[in-house]
Amino acid sequence: MNPRQTEQLRALPAVDELLKADPVQRWCQSATRAEVTAALRAALDHARRDILHNGEPDAAYDTDTILGMAEELLTAQTRPSLRPVINATGVVLHTGLGRAPLCDEAIDAVVKGACGYANLEFDLETGKRGRRQAHVSDLLCQLTGAEAATVVNNNAAAMLLIMRALCDGREVIVSRGQLVEIGGSFRMPDIMAAGGAILREVGTTNRTRIADYRSAITENTAALLRVHHSNFRIVGFTEEPTLEELVECARAHNVIAVDDLGSGAMFDLARIGLPTEPFVGQSVSAGFDVVCFSGDKLLGGPQAGVILGRRDLIARLEAHPLMRSYRLDKLVLLALEATLRRYTDPSAAIERVPTLAMLAATTDDLALRAGVLEKMLSEVLPDEKFFVSSDIGFVGGGSLPGEGLETVVIRWRPTFAKVDAVMQRLRQSSPPVVARISDDQITFDLRTLREKDLRNLATAVAQTPVCPSAAQTSR
Ligand SMILES: *Cc1c(COP(=O)(O)O)cnc(C)c1O
Repeated sequence: MNPRQTEQLRALPAVDELLKADPVQRWCQSATRAEVTAALRAALDHARRDILHNGEPDAAYDTDTILGMAEELLTAQTRPSLRPVINATGVVLHTGLGRAPLCDEAIDAVVKGACGYANLEFDLETGKRGRRQAHVSDLLCQLTGAEAATVVNNNAAAMLLIMRALCDGREVIVSRGQLVEIGGSFRMPDIMAAGGAILREVGTTNRTRIADYRSAITENTAALLRVHHSNFRIVGFTEEPTLEELVECARAHNVIAVDDLGSGAMFDLARIGLPTEPFVGQSVSAGFDVVCFSGDKLLGGPQAGVILGRRDLIARLEAHPLMRSYRLDKLVLLALEATLRRYTDPSAAIERVPTLAMLAATTDDLALRAGVLEKMLSEVLPDEKFFVSSDIGFVGGGSLPGEGLETVVIRWRPTFAKVDAVMQRLRQSSPPVVARISDDQITFDLRTLREKDLRNLATAVAQTPVCPSAAQTSR
């Protein structure tokens, strides 16, 4: 160590001294003292190492410089791991990005509910213990015409519970065309096995007739199961029995008919100009004994599994020990009830439930929003070229498989860095922006961008010519 280095090291401020600085006092209001101290120490360490290893360090390490470094570290370290992102992918039900955004009423209900206690399992009428599912079951019956209803953590849990409680050790007959994999960990045959049911496949990949089900039924059969195709389509020479045929066959042989609807549209999507997708009312009125679907797909609510059906069967599900481990938290129940309430007026639901509103948006609506965004982007980066164009997007979340959805996008090929590098910078902005690449261009899809996202997206784009600092990338 030369005398100059010794001098520079000695000149570094002490942690105790830094802790008294005004900005540091301010940081302590949003971060803990331990976090603030750790950030100051890390900044000082960095400075010390720089002085020791580079005889002539780049920076003069005065108090302000150290504070600046510490603030960046603190911001990076105290940022929540799970945080809001801007979804510019156009995939409305993006499982990686948390599927359905909630409607305002659901958000209000969650915020109010989080602040205190609630009558979760408490009957205010009698003062006795109540059922937590009661808060949504009547509403579900009213909306769908079902005799009884219950709710669990997600649709996978619903299937597992149905298998365990109603089909354990017995055969469940499924068409070979419906043995779907929804995503890595959800494969219908595996779920059935985990549920203790014996899978009995019938028919072929493309054609299964009601006679195939009928001839497979034995005294050990518990159920006929229909599974929504979710994320794929079989086209061409195909055949599947109608819902009514399945139900009739089940009745005739005294077994139950179960429908895993997956995405759970509450009405015919033709109503919002989309291709028809199996919907809940259809399965209930066809007479299925049990119907289940997700809360956070086309319903547009929180993650949940909704189960509708015969009163005696729903009672058996609720009495099963597994129900205890699949039960919903009060915040989820609050969000689910508020979301379901929107459906008492379907046209209001289309406007107020974000999933439906995004799906219902016309290309004219999207083009208008694209114009606004294009203007903002051209203002923040005047040397770059942004093109509004039409494109094909997808719904995601195992809904409307294979149905491309006409959409409007803004495409951008950055002049200052590679597409991948700019995409990475966008993901590191605050809030992070997730876009898609098509045709080797960055593509912002207006279908999943809401009014309030546009300004934030433009701000993120404005910062992409600058490399994010080391502190921000270290996490
Ligand atoms: C999505 C889906 C599931 C799984 O639902 P989660 O709510 O994600 O657990 C099960 N079955 C079908 C047919 C689906 O589409």
